[in-house]
Amino acid sequence: MAQKGSISVNTENIFPIIKKFLYSDHDIFLRELVANATDATQKLQKLSGIGDFKGELGDLSIHISVDKENKTLTISDRGIGMSEEEVMKYINQVAFSGATEFVEKFKDIDTTSIIGKFGLGFYSAFMVAEKVELITKSYKDAPAVKWTCDGSTEFSIEEVEKADRGTDIILYLNSDSEEFIEEHKIQEILNRYCRFMPIKIVFGKDTETVKEGDEEKTIEKDHVINAVQPLYTRDPQSLKDEDYLNFYRELYPMAEEPLFWIHLNVDYPFNLTGILYFPKVKNDITLHKDKIQLYSRQVFITDNVENIVPEFLRLMHGVIDSPDIPLNVSRSYLQSDANVKKISSYITRKVADRLEELFKTDRVLFEQKWESVGLFVKYGMVTEEKFFEKAQKFCLYESLDGKLSTLEEYKEKIKDNQVDKNGNYTLIYTSKPALQDIFIRAAKNRGFDVLKMDALIDNHFISNVEYKLDKVRMKRVDADTVDKLIETDTQLDVALTEDQKKEVDAIFKKATGNDKLDLEVAAMSGDEMPVTIVRPEFMRRMMEMQELSGGNGGMFGFNGFGAEKVMVNGNHALILKLLSADAEKQSQLARQAYDLALLAQGMLKGEALTGFIQRSIELVD
Ligand code: ADP
Repeated sequence: MAQKGSISVNTENIFPIIKKFLYSDHDIFLRELVANATDATQKLQKLSGIGDFKGELGDLSIHISVDKENKTLTISDRGIGMSEEEVMKYINQVAFSGATEFVEKFKDIDTTSIIGKFGLGFYSAFMVAEKVELITKSYKDAPAVKWTCDGSTEFSIEEVEKADRGTDIILYLNSDSEEFIEEHKIQEILNRYCRFMPIKIVFGKDTETVKEGDEEKTIEKDHVINAVQPLYTRDPQSLKDEDYLNFYRELYPMAEEPLFWIHLNVDYPFNLTGILYFPKVKNDITLHKDKIQLYSRQVFITDNVENIVPEFLRLMHGVIDSPDIPLNVSRSYLQSDANVKKISSYITRKVADRLEELFKTDRVLFEQKWESVGLFVKYGMVTEEKFFEKAQKFCLYESLDGKLSTLEEYKEKIKDNQVDKNGNYTLIYTSKPALQDIFIRAAKNRGFDVLKMDALIDNHFISNVEYKLDKVRMKRVDADTVDKLIETDTQLDVALTEDQKKEVDAIFKKATGNDKLDLEVAAMSGDEMPVTIVRPEFMRRMMEMQELSGGNGGMFGFNGFGAEKVMVNGNHALILKLLSADAEKQSQLARQAYDLALLAQGMLKGEALTGFIQRSIELVD
């Protein structure tokens, strides 16, 4: 006999509120309903396993179908089903109280701060349906029932005939949601949310041509959406490299092969499985970000893992599955969640351990992959204190000749030549080998080793290393004249008197037409350039930081350049010649020497460059 009733409500009309809250992401209704069908099926499997259900399990696939004429979408399972009593309890009370609680919890917060996807359950059907029918028959011996609700607080329930156990949910799509009648739309949602669900999900048909004797026949087969046992749920011992690579290709059909991977598997103090891949990272790291997919019990939740994995691990690709990550809370709450913190440091540790293992067991391979891995490791070191500590053991420093060393090895290499008077190891580096060539050669002539630090991340990495490590200094190869790159107590003498120095200063200011020129007549070796433009390390970094943060470097800049300093080599023959020349020659020589210095720094441009070329032609004529 049909009954009518009213769902007990304390929030006046809940459905418009649900719609409002979920408007931006209403695709998830399907995930919720399929997840419920999956749960109901797994429950039956369990009951069967323990002998409480003695019937045939049969085909347990979940079927999704659309009816374009009636504008309905149906989700059918062969799970435990529900008796009338159970419908009253689980659908009218439990499901409803879940929805009520949700609305209560979030009514005062801006919805954009709520994690995009959460489990609202059965009632999310009303985001897209003007009427929902639930036809269900329990696995126990009880009559089938049909529950109907049109999105108001009224429902009706009646006994019906249903041949088989399980539940059909029929959604009568509302006029705003007719897109869900389109196969491709449903296919897309199922592929996104349900591809790893643990029960077979069938939507539509695939056709296949088979040979029967001499005849070719086309047969139709169910189109299965999901891999019920995705690779990450399987025992790592049973898997080969090719399996991992295939799984990666399935996840990211467009990506290059990954470098290596980690299979995660913990069950204490939290549950987590997954596979994380190190992608081939290119200089622009942002391109690789946010490719990790987060699942909870094989149900897709999000591919935005911000706050769940540490910033630098967002560069990794792959899948993480954990029922312990709270999903229906705001992002700011996630940050302080104890489980999330534990998971985050667990993953960091695993990644560091794996890298260390690779480094130790196959250094040659590790070095081959360093170009990519290095970006990732440095990014991790810069952003994650704990990772910095661990990565010390395998972070490699690349010399210009291609040799890779750990910091300890590198210190050993430079200990005789590059330790300054305060006992600091001075690491000399180039950020642009081609542009800084003249400085690099000078450094090499002194027997210094030059490191290549030309990646985007290196700027941050350099300051970080210095800040965190004792007795290590980093200096760009053009930070000073070569004699001064390593600070020592020994001082060279300058051949010039104080008066001559002043004269040189005046000549250069006049010749360049710049009386603010920051110039120093310095004691340098006679074989160095007559004039060198250096960019003192500290000032340069300050400027670079300012530029990065959007400033134009104006505070430190002058002459439109930046923190440059003009070093005139007081021991160079040309400068001595300059002093004894006539005024015109003086100006010409000074201008030329200055332009050469600008040229060496890649700073000679436009009109100044043209002028220089013209003067040079006249000189060689
Ligand atoms: P949750 O799944 O989080 O408990 P829902 O609102 O999705 O919340 O569902 C409420 C309850 O309704 C479920 O716990 C389950 O007992 C019952 N239920 C929902 N869908 C099905 C189904 N397809 N088969 C059997 N029971 C179901």
